[in-house]
Amino acid sequence: MDINLTEKLKQYFGFDKFKGEQERVIRSLLEGNDVFVLMPTGGGKSLCYQLPALIMDGTAIVISPLIALMKNQVDVINGISEDSGLAHYLNSSLNKSAIDQVKKDVREGRTKLLYVAPESLTKDDYVDFLKSPGVKVSFYAVDEAHCISEWGHDFRPEYRRIRPIINEIGKAPVIALTATATDKVRIDIKKSLGMPDALEFKSSFNRPNLYYEVRPKTDGVDKQLIKFIKANHGKSGIIYCLSRKKVEELAEVLRANDIRAAAYHAGLDTQTRSETQDNFLMEEVDVIVATIAFGMGIDKPDVRFVIHYDIPKSLEGYYQETGRAGRDGGEGVCIAFYSHKDLQKLEKFMEGKPVAEQDIGRQLLQETAAYAETSVCRRKFLLHYFGEDYPNENCGNCDNCRNPKEKVEGREELIVLLNAIIALKENFRSQYVVDFIKGRGTDDIVSHNHDKLEEFGSGEDMDEKFWNPVIRHAMLAGYVRKDVESYGLLKITDLGKDFLKNPVSFPIMKDTDFRQLDYGGNGE
Ligand code: ADP
Ligand code: ZN
Repeated sequence: MDINLTEKLKQYFGFDKFKGEQERVIRSLLEGNDVFVLMPTGGGKSLCYQLPALIMDGTAIVISPLIALMKNQVDVINGISEDSGLAHYLNSSLNKSAIDQVKKDVREGRTKLLYVAPESLTKDDYVDFLKSPGVKVSFYAVDEAHCISEWGHDFRPEYRRIRPIINEIGKAPVIALTATATDKVRIDIKKSLGMPDALEFKSSFNRPNLYYEVRPKTDGVDKQLIKFIKANHGKSGIIYCLSRKKVEELAEVLRANDIRAAAYHAGLDTQTRSETQDNFLMEEVDVIVATIAFGMGIDKPDVRFVIHYDIPKSLEGYYQETGRAGRDGGEGVCIAFYSHKDLQKLEKFMEGKPVAEQDIGRQLLQETAAYAETSVCRRKFLLHYFGEDYPNENCGNCDNCRNPKEKVEGREELIVLLNAIIALKENFRSQYVVDFIKGRGTDDIVSHNHDKLEEFGSGEDMDEKFWNPVIRHAMLAGYVRKDVESYGLLKITDLGKDFLKNPVSFPIMKDTDFRQLDYGGNGE
C-alpha cells in the first residue's frame, strides 16, 4: 500500500515522524493483518490504531478498560480536526439519548473510532447494534490487552469474551496493545484473542533514565522518606502504598512535616480524586501518596520520583508504576522499600483466595522478592523478566551497579544445580529443586521418590542463601530457563548442557539478606 503515512501523521497529529515501530505497525494493520504491539508506557501505542482508523473506511472499535481514559482520548481525537465527530464512546456513563446519538453517527459513517468498555461490549443491545447491516467495522483495537490474562497485573474477566463477541459482530483485523510483555501474558493474549499468526512488534522496554533502588524497610522508613523528599524539594513524586489506611496515614505524616502531599485512593469520592489529580498536574501538590488506583492515564511528564512504600504484588505492576517517572526523558528515581515481613503479610492475604489464584499470586510475589533481594543489575533483571536481554554488565543507573557486590565463584554450585534439574527430568520449579538439592525430604519430594535419587542432597553442605542467586544467575547467563507454558518449571538450555561438558568459571553475587535487615527485630 503506497499511502504516504508520514503526510497523514502530519495532517492529523502534527508530528513530523513516527516513533519506533509505529509506521510498520500501521502498515501491517492496513494490509489486513492481525497485529500485536508491545511497547512500554509512553511508547506511543494509541497512535498505532488512531491513525489507521482515521484513514480506513468504516469505524474502528476500540476496547479500552477505563471510562476516564476513554473520554480523554475521544477529546484528543476530536480536538485534532475541524470535523469534531471523529471519535465517540459507548459506556455506562451515557444516558439513552446520548447513546442514540452515538449510534446514529456510527451508522451514518461519521465515527472513525468508537471506544467501548469491555462490559458494554458484552451487552446484547450493543452487539446487536454493531452487527446490524448499517455498521461497517474497519478493525478492532484491544487496548491494555494484558487485562485478558490472570498473569497480568489487572485481570478483567470480561476481556475473555472479546473474541467470541468479535466473531459475532463480524470478523475484521485485530490489533492488541499492551505495556506488559512477559511471555506468559503474551501467550495468553494471543490465545484468548485467537490471533496465533498476529505480527508482533515489540520495542525495547528499557528506560535508561530511570534509576532503580531497593532499600530495606526499617523502623526509620518515614524519616528516610521525609529526608529524601526534602532533598528533592519542589519536585513531583508519587508514593505507592498497598492499603488505603496507610495512604491516609502517610499523607498526614508528610503534611505534618511541611511537605505538600495529598492522598489518593479509590475510596475517596470522585470530586476529591479529580481535584487531587488537578492539583498534582498544576503543581499545587508535590507528592501524591496513593494506592495503585492512581496513575493510569495521568500523563505528567516530569514526575521525578516513584517510591514504593510497600512491596508491589508483581513486577508487571511495579514496572508500570515506576514507568510514570521521567516520561520526559529526564531524571526518574524509583525506590522500593522491601521487608521480608511485608512479603509474609502479602502471602497471608492470599490464603482465602481460590487455589489457582493463590498459586499465580505467590509466583508473581516470588519474582518481586527475587528482584528486591538480588545483587545483579536491577535493569538487567527487569528486562530479563520481560523477555529482553540487556547486554551490559553494569547499567550505571541502579543501586547494585553503583555499589557492586563482590563476586564469588559459583562453578561447583552450577554443576550441582544443572545435574539436579536433569535428575528431576526438568519437571519442577525452583523451590522444589532447592529443597531437593538441600536434601529436604518434603512430602512432595518423598511422594515422588526423589529422596532415593543419587543427586538428592548433593548440595547439602553449601550455603542455603546461595541457591536462589545461583538459579537467577544461571537464568541470566542462559544456562537455565523457566518454562513459560508451565510457568516456572526449570529447564536446562543447550548452553547449560555445554557447560556441564566443559564447566567454566561462573562468578555470582550473593543476595542481600533482608531477614536480618527487617524492621522490628529479626523478622521471624
Ligand atoms: P502509550 O499508550 O504507549 O503509553 P501514548 O499513546 O499515550 O503512549 O503516547 C505517549 C506520548 O507520545 C503522547 O503524548 C503522544 O502524543 C506522543 N506521541 C505518540 N506518537 C508520537 C510521534 N510519532 N511523534 C511525537 N510524539 C508522539
Ligand atoms: Zn544496573
